[in-house]
Amino acid sequence: MSSSGEEFENVKYISSKIVKKYLAWLKSSVYEETFKMLLASKISIDGDFAFSSDDIKNISKFVASGKDYLEENNCDWMNRFRMLTKDQQYAVVRHQQFSYFLKMAKKPTLTCRNFEYKNYKAKIHHKDKSSTSMKDVIYTLPYFRKKFQDDSCAVCIEKFTEGQFVRKLPCQHAFHLSCMSQWTKRRTTCPTCRRKLAVKCEITYDVEMEKMKDCSTSVEIHLRTESLFY
Ligand SMILES: [Zn+2]
Ligand SMILES: [Zn+2]
Repeated sequence: MSSSGEEFENVKYISSKIVKKYLAWLKSSVYEETFKMLLASKISIDGDFAFSSDDIKNISKFVASGKDYLEENNCDWMNRFRMLTKDQQYAVVRHQQFSYFLKMAKKPTLTCRNFEYKNYKAKIHHKDKSSTSMKDVIYTLPYFRKKFQDDSCAVCIEKFTEGQFVRKLPCQHAFHLSCMSQWTKRRTTCPTCRRKLAVKCEITYDVEMEKMKDCSTSVEIHLRTESLFY
């Protein structure tokens, strides 16, 4: 393999790492920021009970991952979260996601961020066309009877448990997290009313590289994200 071919393979590898890092940063920064803001301003908690910044990170990560809460049921942050009232639990999680979606929807179409790695100077140009509409967002929320129109999941026909995390679609229909993730592997419509759902974010990018005079390599990454409806 020629040295330039090898260099190109390196750049490809490094770019994929940087894109991954950037996407993780994008998600975590917005979640964390809105969560802190919320806890400071709107959620007052009795006594000396409060969330640590790790709790905030864990709740944010959990909601973003869409995992079933039963897996996390016995951990400390979940127990602390359960000490909030039903309304607070619901409000914290809903508002957090609402702010996130709103920020995504309003976000300028092009953002830039620099990364440095060894001899590589990379710049990400991110054109974001995903979540441009608040009509299409899917929430992950704790289930409380009064807040939902359904009391059971139409995929498995089982009743929801109070406080269990569920997926609430734009049509207001709700499903277990695991039922919904199984369903959206095969279909992209609501199981109950067949409304089309934006279930995936398509991530594509091109890379350009240039050798600089100081022996560093400049890498330009053009990243595009877009919602998929099929
Ligand atoms: Zn189910
Ligand atoms: Zn529906």
